[in-house]
Amino acid sequence: MTLRPEFALIERIQKAAGGSSRVPLGIGDDAAGLACRDDRETLVATDMLLDGVHFVVEECGPYWAGRKALAVNLSDLAAMGRCMASFVSIAIPRNWNAREADELMRGVLELAAKWDCPVAGGDTNSWDGRLVINVAVVGESIEATSIRRAGAQVGDVIVVSGALGGSIYGRHLMFEPRLDVALQLLKLARPNSMIDLSDGLSSDLWHILKASHVGAVLEQKLIPVHEDVRHHADVVNLSSQPAFAHALHDGEDFELLFTLSAAQWETLRQNWKLPIALTKIGMIVSEEACRIVSETGESKELVPGGYVHRFG
Ligand code: ADP
Ligand code: MG
Repeated sequence: MTLRPEFALIERIQKAAGGSSRVPLGIGDDAAGLACRDDRETLVATDMLLDGVHFVVEECGPYWAGRKALAVNLSDLAAMGRCMASFVSIAIPRNWNAREADELMRGVLELAAKWDCPVAGGDTNSWDGRLVINVAVVGESIEATSIRRAGAQVGDVIVVSGALGGSIYGRHLMFEPRLDVALQLLKLARPNSMIDLSDGLSSDLWHILKASHVGAVLEQKLIPVHEDVRHHADVVNLSSQPAFAHALHDGEDFELLFTLSAAQWETLRQNWKLPIALTKIGMIVSEEACRIVSETGESKELVPGGYVHRFG
């Protein structure tokens, strides 16, 4: 008997999916079974990626499309806790062959293995449209409750991991979700609020400020600008914006942005050993606005920028 191609694909995924003690029942039944701890918050996040919007599969190939679909979800979990299992639903273009579908899943499965977040289920369809891939991840808080956007306190230091801007030149596909940064951070300190940077620093900081009913003052000279911004500005000369504007607004950095008390920041800074830098970029203030102070000391309002999905 020959299997329908989707069943054959699911069998191959099942063989490669791996497992974990937190996933007693993985692929192969009507639902997956997860062992959730009753002294932790169970976290669920989902993100859908569309060919032509979040990647162009003809350019990046199915491997990187699959990897990105899981990576953006792991980035969301990193901002709140750790991962347990992932679920991968795909609408495959009918003209794809088995090798392309396998490549897509290899992108997912390699990253899932790296971060110990086994693929525990999903759904497989084919259609006449372009590739759609939806990943859902289940995780748990590292302590009794998760780190949320609403929690920033007046006087908190605002900190960002890594460097920002210019992700469009490749990092938006190839980034590493900051699960290790989050885990280490929680070992050393207790942030009051945290978010992952998907829409751009100016927009994502705004989410923290709004949820926490506070404001912020950033210092332009402290914002870590990724070398991709300068490198590509030199090579391709694509943009007339200053480098720091890319760091503020570009989006898809997938770094972590968090706030914590000045005392906690001091402890964290002194004990931080991971190769990914943590940089203080400003302070939380009571006035509910976001301001940025230029290198010459001039203070301006920072308006959220970044990508907007349009509809309606
Ligand atoms: P059902 O008809 O009960 O929904 P399916 O044939 O859709 O069953 O799926 C069979 C099993 O394979 C389920 O455990 C499901 O979660 C899993 N599965 C299907 N597609 C995928 C996929 N793309 N990635 C991971 N698991 C999948
Ligand atoms: Mg199904």
